[in-house]
Amino acid sequence: MSYTARMVTTHSPEETMALARTFLAKLGEVERTRGTSTIVALSGDLGAGKTVFVQGLARALGIEERVVSPTFVIQKIYRLPQDASWKHLVHIDAYRLSGEEELETIGWYETATAPHNLVVIEWPEQAGLAIPERAYPVVFNEEDEATRKIELPLV
Ligand code: ADP
Ligand code: MG
Repeated sequence: MSYTARMVTTHSPEETMALARTFLAKLGEVERTRGTSTIVALSGDLGAGKTVFVQGLARALGIEERVVSPTFVIQKIYRLPQDASWKHLVHIDAYRLSGEEELETIGWYETATAPHNLVVIEWPEQAGLAIPERAYPVVFNEEDEATRKIELPLV
């Protein structure tokens, strides 16, 4: 699947979180009828803003818990409020993985096929071929200390 991507420049973490909220609203619209999970693949170097973006999604979804990069636990699952478009937010940090076999050890196949999951995955490159083509790619580039160029579809 191909999407028209847009390049958005943000100047603070708050702006990146606001962009995540806008993206989420569009995602909820286009993913309304689906028989599988929704997957968002977040690429970019360390410190580029991937986790901040997930924090913006989490806040917009009504998650009150603090969201941090699940670098050591690999995966964190948050239950969403009743009125959300999905039942769970699954936050994966594949930084420490090498290939799709390792992703399978955390139950990737079920996670990726459950219709009520919104799956966001940092370092999708580390997951080998496991990321389906339908995933929405978001690419983060650090310009300077507070400036990020973010390429993403839907917005
Ligand atoms: P990643 O998950 O990509 O490794 P993080 O989201 O954990 O990166 O960290 C991004 C860091 O950059 C945070 O310390 C955040 O405060 C800082 N930052 C500065 N400007 C921005 C911006 N415009 N958008 C996102 N994060 C920013
Ligand atoms: Mg991170």
